[in-house]
Amino acid sequence: MILTIVKYPDPVLSRRGEPVTEFDADLRKLIADMFETSYASQGVGLAAPQVSVSKRLAVIDLSMGKDPKDRLVLINPEIIFRDGKIYEDEGCLSFPDIREKVVRAAKVRVRAQDENGQWFEMEGEDLLSRCFQHEIDHVDGMLFIFRMSALKREFALRKIRKMQRNGEW
Ligand SMILES: [Zn+2]
Repeated sequence: MILTIVKYPDPVLSRRGEPVTEFDADLRKLIADMFETSYASQGVGLAAPQVSVSKRLAVIDLSMGKDPKDRLVLINPEIIFRDGKIYEDEGCLSFPDIREKVVRAAKVRVRAQDENGQWFEMEGEDLLSRCFQHEIDHVDGMLFIFRMSALKREFALRKIRKMQRNGEW
């Protein structure tokens, strides 16, 4: 089922997600729906708050559905190591048409649970590193515009206000 992706400034996006404690059929259904929703929007990642579920859960698939091995589920995730710096264009499904450069760590190590509740650790570099940081920010209630420089954020917010006025947001 394709879920509705909420846009900024929906308050659920700025709320810290609740830890996931039940690894049951409802959780697996939500995860399947989140992958389907992400693919339908040609996204590489989606966090539960973006579909109005205030929980610490995100899905990532850099292949956008082409390679099942790329499907990653991060539950109760945290970044336990970061190294280096990258500065690349970033977008977000909750900010359609906004793309701006954001500083991120070039490499991170993440600790999370999978859909069965098993803890695992995983490293990511470049795009995957960026994705980990972007999605884990979402479950913390942090949005990528607040990682931009003040000038770029002001520019993005002005563009959003203009789109809101024109009924395009
Ligand atoms: Zn996002």
